[in-house]
Amino acid sequence: MECCICKAGENLGFIKEINGYKLYQCARCGIIFSDPMKNPGSSWYENAEIYQIGRLFSTGKTAWYHNQFLKMGEAKGKNIMDLGCGFGQFLNAAKNLGYDAYGIDFDTQSLEVAREKFKLTNISQATIEEFIKINPEIKFDYVTFFEVLEHVASPVDFINGLKKLLKTNGQIAFSFPNRDRLFDPLGEDDNPPNHLTKWNENSLIKFLDICGFEAVKLTVKDLKKEDFIMFLKSKFKTGLIKKMIRESKKESNSKPLKKARILNNIKETVYFLISLIASPVFWLIYLVGAYKKKGGGIYCQARLKLK
Ligand SMILES: [Zn+2]
Repeated sequence: MECCICKAGENLGFIKEINGYKLYQCARCGIIFSDPMKNPGSSWYENAEIYQIGRLFSTGKTAWYHNQFLKMGEAKGKNIMDLGCGFGQFLNAAKNLGYDAYGIDFDTQSLEVAREKFKLTNISQATIEEFIKINPEIKFDYVTFFEVLEHVASPVDFINGLKKLLKTNGQIAFSFPNRDRLFDPLGEDDNPPNHLTKWNENSLIKFLDICGFEAVKLTVKDLKKEDFIMFLKSKFKTGLIKKMIRESKKESNSKPLKKARILNNIKETVYFLISLIASPVFWLIYLVGAYKKKGGGIYCQARLKLK
């Protein structure tokens, strides 16, 4: 066995075994990776309950990592390819800023939501290779992949593969969970087969170097109240909503789904109230300064290193 990033064959520290996968940490590049590095495939994602809930209750709001990119502002004449575009909330926001917006994903259900909800047209179910084969002339100013890297079975090959999509001065922009976060809202979902790798700032910098990139912008999220709320949410799961979704699928009946939506709204309201009550705790955390770079995610923009 060797490290999936730096190919080191030794100093791979065994961490634990979970779901039939073994987790190791490489002492040379710092990555935590699973053995085997095997992606469970599109049908697993289409059926995984966390993603079903995401599709159903998508508000169309962009996430903090999307906003890191979007705050660059107006983008007339620039184009963008979003890998793993999901239900398209990021591409929709990018399109509204003037980007010529393209996306691919292997999850057909999410793509359907994207077409219906945001009227996105340049999105398709394809791999990078398939897209290039059909559109060999299109190159991009930006190739984005939010919350994708940790699912990929071969991160180095993934980055090498997407270089062909980039214009000469093009950039990649991406995000992933920060494994050095103070609160962990992901729990089981952060393990294989869902997440095959775990990253922090240092392992990212080594990875970029190995892939021939250099960071233009690297943001490790500071701890925010929302991190704590997401952590609470993950600890108090009743499974009721999941059960309703399962029921509605089994009986192809929309009633349980309506109930699930109402329940979800109630839940959001309760957590909003809790977040108000929790504010003083957060002032304390801020006072002692234990928030810097301890948030749930990392955002990075990078370009090819000049030879
Ligand atoms: Zn390594």
